[in-house]
Amino acid sequence: MEGKMRAQVFYEAEKMQMEMLPIPQVSAIDVLVKVKSVGICGSDISYYYGLSPVGTATGKGPIVLGHEFTGEVVEVGSVPEMLGLFAPGDRVVVNPVQNCNACYACAEGKTHLCANLSVPGVTVNGGFAQYCVSRYTGLFKISDDMSYSAGAFTEPLACALNGIKKLGIEIGDFVAIFGPGSMGLMMVQMCKALGAAKVALMGAAGDDWRLEQGKKVGADYIFNTVEKNSKYYTSDLKKTISELTKGRLADRAIAPTSANAAFEKAVEIVGNCAIIVHFGLPNADDVFKIPALSFHTMDKEIRSAWLAPLAWPAAIRSIEEGLVKVDRLITGTYPLEDTEKAIRTLKTNPGNQIKIQIAV
Ligand SMILES: [Zn+2]
Ligand SMILES: [Zn+2]
Repeated sequence: MEGKMRAQVFYEAEKMQMEMLPIPQVSAIDVLVKVKSVGICGSDISYYYGLSPVGTATGKGPIVLGHEFTGEVVEVGSVPEMLGLFAPGDRVVVNPVQNCNACYACAEGKTHLCANLSVPGVTVNGGFAQYCVSRYTGLFKISDDMSYSAGAFTEPLACALNGIKKLGIEIGDFVAIFGPGSMGLMMVQMCKALGAAKVALMGAAGDDWRLEQGKKVGADYIFNTVEKNSKYYTSDLKKTISELTKGRLADRAIAPTSANAAFEKAVEIVGNCAIIVHFGLPNADDVFKIPALSFHTMDKEIRSAWLAPLAWPAAIRSIEEGLVKVDRLITGTYPLEDTEKAIRTLKTNPGNQIKIQIAV
């Protein structure tokens, strides 16, 4: 398609500007998507503030960020057209972790560790723009009754779902979730849907409002482990959970936060044969410190959950079937012009925000 489009181009820390760019051309394996709704991810905030390098060869811009998005198909490359897979007008969600389907990792189902990944919004231009190209293998159609805005939760929800699958919840489990952000609040709902008897949600400074939102979506207990004047404060979380579980401690724990201390706490408050999943992206120099003897003799197990391999169909169904209610997690919707403002709001006032979206 010829013409120009509005796009938010990120250059370097705290420098992003609206520009007119050529509408991207589709190659044989691409589909051109007219972007409708884009969620702002924690990683977009990290990139914007220069806390993590973007995925380009240099680690720097210029690049259009935004990887959690839905839109409408406007042009179809020759391969997906020949295969009859997509047509203009289709409503789609983009899986931004676009693997090659040809390397060893892909052939083993480790698609998130593909040797030839292309990631719109991270390695190539993404969704903070009027149009974006996607490989046809990274697109899923969504039904007419799923709003574009709900669909834009699919990517984070797929990641959350992958983490929860790794947690291996069994019916009746006591599950501890550290971090009342959008990931944590989706995980609360999944754990309840999977048969967890009790879910405890933990937060830190400034998190009380978000903890209360967690209670509204199903958390049985909410605790602030940091702020002494919080009404949810507990000075000894392990003891509190021990009392709630008659000494058994938590069966499962997951930490959807980049706070290293929260993960170490998660390992501390679980009981015999518990599974703990490391979920939040750590900082480059983070190191875990775990008491080795109790970890060993209580036979605990730690797993990581990176991205969302093979989790997409279930994530889409979870939204479609209302197993995870995402609409109530939206605390702001901004126009494309205000993308920087939206990112800054999430950084400066996180305690009152869950998910902010850009409506393009
Ligand atoms: Zn994301
Ligand atoms: Zn591959």
